[in-house]
Parts: sequence; C-alpha cells; structure tokens
Amino acid sequence: MSKGLVIVLSGPAGSGKDTLLNRYFKFGSAKKTVSATTRPMRHNETDGRDYHFFTRERFEQAIKAGELLEYTEYAGNYYGTLYSEINRITAAGDDVILKIEVEGGQNVKKRFPGAVMVFTFPPNADILASRLKSRGTEDEETVKRRLAAAEKEIEIAKKTYDYLVINDDADDAAKNFADIITARHAAMSENIDFMNEVRDDVKNHFI
Ligand code: 5GP
Repeated sequence: MSKGLVIVLSGPAGSGKDTLLNRYFKFGSAKKTVSATTRPMRHNETDGRDYHFFTRERFEQAIKAGELLEYTEYAGNYYGTLYSEINRITAAGDDVILKIEVEGGQNVKKRFPGAVMVFTFPPNADILASRLKSRGTEDEETVKRRLAAAEKEIEIAKKTYDYLVINDDADDAAKNFADIITARHAAMSENIDFMNEVRDDVKNHFI
C-alpha cells in the first residue's frame, strides 16, 4: 500500500480553500496541519484550531529553534508550518494537508519532492475579488494587498503545482480534490514497495 502523502493546497485569499476543505473533511480522511501565524485572530477563529496564534517574538524564536518546516511573510505577517504538526498527523498514519501560500508550497516541494501540489482558483477573477470583499474581516488596504498577491501566486503555481481545482461549487471542488489524492495513491511511483513485495511473494510461491 502507498505511504502517507504530503498534500499542499494553495490558492489566493478568497479562492475558497477553507470552504473546499470543510466540505472535503465531511468525507475525506486526510488531516490538515494547524499553522502558526502572527496575524490577529479573526472573530470567528479559535486559537489552536484555526491557527496557533503567536506573537512575533514567539514566532522568531520558533524560526531560530528550527521548529518550522517552512515559513513565509505574507501581507505583513508570519505564517509557518510546525514540524510537530506534520509529526502528529503522520504518526497516526494519515495523509497530511498543508493549506499554505505558494512560496511556502515551493519550500515544501524542495523538502518533500513527492508532495502533491494542488492550486485552487474560482472560475474567474471577479468572483475572487467579490469573495474577498464580502468576507468583511479585512479592511480595504488588506483586500488590495491580497489581490496584488494573487497575481504573483498564479505565476508561481504555473511552475510548481501539479493540479488545478476550479472552485465554483464547493462540493464539486472537494470531490475533485479527493479524486486527486486517490489518484496519487494509485500512482505506480507510490506503490513500488508493494510491487516489490508481491513480486517476491509470487516468485517464492513457485519455488
Ligand atoms: P489567512 O490570513 O487568510 O488565514 O491566510 C493567508 C495566507 O497564508 C493563505 O494563502 C494561507 O494559505 C497562507 N498560510 C496559512 N498558513 C500557512 C503556513 O503555515 N505557511 C505558509 N507558507 N502559508 C500559510
């Protein structure tokens, strides 16, 4: 059987990653890491569930101590993946989902070349902008910064990512995301140990 996968899910703010994942978790078995960040907590968020909310000092301490698999500064705040989160999930034998921005994704790909790289985007850019504005959790300046970041993210994704999920209907998007994970588990490259094992068993069977 293929081993646990590292799956990176990226997409600009407003692309609907959270909704996609919430729908996916209704039926899918992969587990998401909880990132550390220095950005302020939104009113609908919980510390330890949505993010580990760190002060800048605590985050910089984590960088120095080598606690982070990857980190980046995005729209003025630090975001990063703690090794402890990856270990917590892989120890239980589950696939790991990292919902991170594309520069972090590039770094994960360097560390785990077999990572499954998935980018998501709404059917068009107008939908992205209106989703971002209608959130009501960010001021206008932040919305502008996030739209500017989206252009750069698309360019990086074209080069580094393996799959695109168009996020129109969230249930369909979640299903497509799950299908990508299923397909990667079935890839021959993920099943070489199994193939060697059954080859040896077949060989021994006829001795
Ligand atoms: P938000 O502030 O909207 O929750 O997240 C902003 C961006 O940071 C999103 O694109 C999100 O995927 C990304 N992000 C969240 N956690 C991490 C992380 O641990 N590492 C990196 N590189 N990006 C992250």
